[in-house]
Amino acid sequence: MRRMLIFGGTFNPIHRGHLHLYRHFADALAVDRVLIIPTKQPPHKQPHELASGADRLEMCRLAAQDDPRAEVSDLELRRAGPSYTVDTLEELHARYPGAELYLAVGSDMLLTLDKWWRRERIVQLAVICALARRPGEYELMQHKKEELERRFGGTYRVDQADILEISSTELRRKIKEHTDLTPWLPPAVIDYIKRNGLYQCR
Ligand code: ATP
Repeated sequence: MRRMLIFGGTFNPIHRGHLHLYRHFADALAVDRVLIIPTKQPPHKQPHELASGADRLEMCRLAAQDDPRAEVSDLELRRAGPSYTVDTLEELHARYPGAELYLAVGSDMLLTLDKWWRRERIVQLAVICALARRPGEYELMQHKKEELERRFGGTYRVDQADILEISSTELRRKIKEHTDLTPWLPPAVIDYIKRNGLYQCR
């Protein structure tokens, strides 16, 4: 294993914005493997409306099933206590010695990286790779990149690529409103949500 892209998130549910982010960096970096890692309850998010770990894991598997590079991992769901990115990176660093680790994040995550638990260690373990989620964020992210480099060291890659302005929060609302989900979710994920009545889908 030479290069591995790590992509963590709540994935409640996984959507095309997520797939776009990881595929962009998986292609640009020609990684050997992508690890998609659903987190437990993230420290900064409300428990409200969170599908079970098993459901989120399965939706990730369905979304990435056609991508031979992608593997969905339950390592954060299995680990006791809250999911901290630094623990995941330490575990992967120990498991794959010599592999270059890249961490894919959206702009909201890059812009708040200075508040992450043990951020100095995170940026020693992985290159941070970020894309904008909303128009106009690119310059803001460039500024943040420079600030993070100054304060914490590490390597950051901020790319200008297509923007898919969608969030899981908006999608959970659309699901309740019976809006057509095909622009935002892979068909197998829509089907899973319907079959299992997730997010009050009836
Ligand atoms: P929620 O609306 O429930 O807070 P979310 O859509 O922000 O969820 P997460 O699972 O929290 O999704 O996101 C996982 C990772 O994917 C984060 O790094 C986030 O910034 C990134 N991401 C989410 N949506 C997009 C998008 N549309 N474009 C690019 N990156 C995204």
